[in-house]
Amino acid sequence: QGTTSDVIVIGAGISGLIAARILKQYGLKVTVLEARDRVGGRTLTLRDESIGYVDLGAMFVGATQYRLAQLLKELGIETYRVTEEESVIIQTVGKRTISNDDMPNWSNPIARMDSNNLFRTIDKLAMQVPPEAPWDCPNAEEWDSMTCTTWFDEMCWTKVTRAYADIFVRINFAVESRDLSFLYFLWYIRCAGGVLQVHLVEGGAQEQKIVGGAQQISEKLAKIIGIENVVLSRAVVKLEQGNNEVIVTTSDWGVYKGSYVVCALPQNLLNRVEFAPPLPSVRIQMLQRIPMGCCIKTFMYYEKRFWIEKGLCGSVLSDGPLLSMDDTKPDGSHPALMSFLNGDWGRKLCGETKEKRKAVLCQEYAKSLNSTEALNPINYVEFDWTGEQYSGGCYVCAYPPGVLTRYAKELRNPIGRVYFAGTETASSWTGYMDGAIQAGDRAAKEVLFAMGVINENELTDKHENAESKLDKGSEFLEVSSGMDRYLPSVPVFLKSILAVSVIGVAVFKYRDTLHKGFHLT
Ligand code: FAD
Repeated sequence: QGTTSDVIVIGAGISGLIAARILKQYGLKVTVLEARDRVGGRTLTLRDESIGYVDLGAMFVGATQYRLAQLLKELGIETYRVTEEESVIIQTVGKRTISNDDMPNWSNPIARMDSNNLFRTIDKLAMQVPPEAPWDCPNAEEWDSMTCTTWFDEMCWTKVTRAYADIFVRINFAVESRDLSFLYFLWYIRCAGGVLQVHLVEGGAQEQKIVGGAQQISEKLAKIIGIENVVLSRAVVKLEQGNNEVIVTTSDWGVYKGSYVVCALPQNLLNRVEFAPPLPSVRIQMLQRIPMGCCIKTFMYYEKRFWIEKGLCGSVLSDGPLLSMDDTKPDGSHPALMSFLNGDWGRKLCGETKEKRKAVLCQEYAKSLNSTEALNPINYVEFDWTGEQYSGGCYVCAYPPGVLTRYAKELRNPIGRVYFAGTETASSWTGYMDGAIQAGDRAAKEVLFAMGVINENELTDKHENAESKLDKGSEFLEVSSGMDRYLPSVPVFLKSILAVSVIGVAVFKYRDTLHKGFHLT
């Protein structure tokens, strides 16, 4: 009884579907089991006459996300550039600063030195973390024993920089600095190629958006695999491994048999599946320690882009609720501001009504963009990822201290006939769609290798060469302007001032002595 396949893939997000597509290309019979009634997982595009289309989940395509770029090309999906020609508002500790990009360039020179040094140091340290095995980094123990808060507190000299460091974590990880292992933070940045790759629009992870929305990727992949092979509304609840096969049971008592299984669900959800025999102890322990971040993605629609008239691009990076960007379509239709309610803000507001969240956001937009027009939106759309039981939050599992070094070493190792995909297991752009592709590709090839279909050489990912270009060292140093590159840190600056003062006093005294001596003779 039950459907029999060569490989069963669990999860019809990008990672699972990429794995299924590769396996199918090798002539294998593949069945994809998906818990939701749709494909796409953490990509979700709402199509609606009043707003056109809007990405409620993943949205951006990064400048150096080569796998994603190639996949989009293959699938015939177009992208368009995100522009931030006007100014960005950075709002920390009650100060509203107008900036020319998403990195702070405070007018106060001490604050500028401080934030420059902070991100330059993060970049340098991140480059010491091996993307395949962060636990092997020489400082792994030390960095994994502290949160980002501890490290930021030690590094930052100015309040604005310290507050901006928290914003950086909240926008890029959807958690608070106190929740995140500093080693995990560095690893994530390393996997992306550097601070600026993670954080910026031009040259960074937010450089482009997908025409028609990101969920198309999975929809098109499912068509290639054959929609009859992608079974929706089938939540896997049990995996039983025998000597020659794996029996997979779904919540509706469906039984599926396969020679191999690829698990492509978010790692945090693996604990909901019963494994027989049980997973190894350390793996069970790990799965209890990697929570997802907290995010509500919101879209406020207006009659017109009033912020552009004020010389603002709509991006607000704030230590309040707003982490916003313009989401107007490239032809100027559907003027909108997108904002994440992340970390503590997502947690605080997820229990409130939609109307309340809308009101809070309007007030914040009015303050930050300095316009009462913000109080009169024509539409509001939101999606609360914190309440999604088949994601558990977003964007990605965020490791607290102690987990990477103690429990995660076998993160992507197969267990018997069961292999692991999903962006959480990627070593390049982990947490992103590009990482999901890398992980799906790797897991499929591991299965093909185990079956004797491909040889060891074919396990290599063809994008690794392109990526090695990113390994040349600190990208922050490469990209930042000459002034930022050579700006000293605050302590080095203060020490230099002290040294110059001491030398000045010494010279003065010496001159004084010479003078006196001269008088005596
Ligand atoms: P998922 O997409 O989570 O797929 C896993 C699938 O498994 C899901 O379909 C789920 O329903 C299914 N599943 C779960 N449990 C079971 C079960 N028991 N049985 C069967 N199926 C199950 N990335 C970017 O690159 N750019 C961005 O701009 C970006 N922004 C984001 C914004 C938000 C709000 C979110 C949520 C994510 C964002 N991401 C972004 C991250 C990106 O969406 C993910 O990295 C990527 O989609 C993960 O793909 P995946 O296949 O690994 O996992």
